[in-house]
Amino acid sequence: MGGTAVESLRALLRGEVIGPEDTGYDEARKIYNAMIDRRPAVIARCADTTDVRAAVRYARENDMDLAVRGGGHSGGGLCLVDGSLMIDLSGIRWVRVDPATRTALVGGGSQLGDLDHEAHGFGLATPAGIMSTTGVGGLTLGGGHGHLTRAYGLTIDNLLAADLVLADGSVVTASADEHPDLFWALRGGGGNFGVATSFTYALHPVDDVGVGVTLWDPEHIGAVLRWYREFLPAAPDDLNGFFATLTVPPGPPFPEEIHHKKVCGVVWCSTGPTDEESLAKTFAPVADPAPPVFHFATPMPYPALQSMFDELIPKGLQWYWRGDFFDRITEDAIDVHRTFLENIPTELSTMHLYPVDAAAHRVGPMDTAWAYRDAIWSGVIGGISPEPSEAEAIRTWAVDYWEALHPHSMGAGYVNFMGADEGHDRVRATYRGHYDRLAEVKRTYDPDNVFHHNQNITPAGS
Ligand SMILES: Cc1cc2nc3c(=O)[nH]c(=O)nc-3n(C[C@H](O)[C@H](O)[C@H](O)COP(=O)(O)OP(=O)(O)OC[C@H]3O[C@@H](n4cnc5c(N)ncnc54)[C@H](O)[C@@H]3O)c2cc1C
Repeated sequence: MGGTAVESLRALLRGEVIGPEDTGYDEARKIYNAMIDRRPAVIARCADTTDVRAAVRYARENDMDLAVRGGGHSGGGLCLVDGSLMIDLSGIRWVRVDPATRTALVGGGSQLGDLDHEAHGFGLATPAGIMSTTGVGGLTLGGGHGHLTRAYGLTIDNLLAADLVLADGSVVTASADEHPDLFWALRGGGGNFGVATSFTYALHPVDDVGVGVTLWDPEHIGAVLRWYREFLPAAPDDLNGFFATLTVPPGPPFPEEIHHKKVCGVVWCSTGPTDEESLAKTFAPVADPAPPVFHFATPMPYPALQSMFDELIPKGLQWYWRGDFFDRITEDAIDVHRTFLENIPTELSTMHLYPVDAAAHRVGPMDTAWAYRDAIWSGVIGGISPEPSEAEAIRTWAVDYWEALHPHSMGAGYVNFMGADEGHDRVRATYRGHYDRLAEVKRTYDPDNVFHHNQNITPAGS
């Protein structure tokens, strides 16, 4: 089947078609998480919408399993499936910014860095994740949060339209005016409804931002979290700060005496004034819970902040992650964080609490498929290592940590922080009361569940 598919698709597509016999195959099937090693029957690196349509039709006519790859960042490797026809969207990477309407039209295989770079040229940006290499596709369809979330909401709150290739190979535009049911479902429902070949986003005036990093000794984690849980939700929308437990990387800007030290900290992004005096005022409260072991704050172009972690966690590491939403940080949760910071298995392993309040709370709970508008933080526990031999240790740490913390959460997590092995109940939980409505949209647009390599919403609504 694979060999036939390679030859047939080559005749149909403008983009590259890569099969197991081709020299580029092993490189083409590598995804961000090196823990996932699977072999598609054929990789269709589509060049445009017509290629995507041809690939979808080919898979259906030949009864092939279909997988869709955007940026390849999914933790559980949802885009990489043994024996499948993989639609690889990395050939559809382009961005067109219209400064007059403050909008960006973005190819469905683009990475966040593509959008950030082009929009920044016009002094504009839209909220997305914190790594430049994450795909706009998976991130947007799952919700999308990052440094601009408190100021401008989730990525889906800024999505104006998407072009989608449906399961029968037809193309639709989903927006507030066209296919509004589909547009509602796309904003949080993951890749369940079709292949998004482009996204249109609203942009906001964002140029230099005030970037801060504050680190404290782990003995102060209780005081810091007690302060953070009050300080951030009460802070103005223009201040974002995600809390993290981590090990200090051995390099600048960190002084040598804290290299390799376990710490807790906050990574800040201020879209307010970035002059020295304003930044000093904004960040003066960081001394309140305990004296930091490190603090810096400086103006930085927004794309520089967005690529700040790229080198620290490049493609090709072992990853295992789990997440949950939180509407409070309880004393019991603080104890769990303290314990698992002490037990952190590798220097890259980490836990983050991303704020999803402020502007993200001003969108109604029924307005999009994102079902946790009442959450204040979207938490993720990431076991990370360059060593395959440490795969089991990072997985065990992440699962144990998650199990200890889960009772102190809202009972479900962000769909983009779910692994492929968490079970269907977790998918239902992330969509809460929206699941049945999502299943109805699924029945309309993908009744045969062609797009099922995702956190699957079944047409039957099961
Ligand atoms: C290092 C790292 C940092 C991250 N940081 C953040 C963050 O700050 N904020 C945040 O919100 N999330 C973050 N994430 C999670 C991220 O949003 C998800 O992993 C997301 O699924 C990645 O999308 P992708 O397109 O790169 O992934 P892929 O693995 O390519 O795809 C993931 C899923 O989306 C589907 N999909 C992808 N593109 C399309 C498309 N165009 N049309 C239809 N379906 C598509 C795939 O079929 C698959 O089911 C991070 C992930 C990593 C690895």
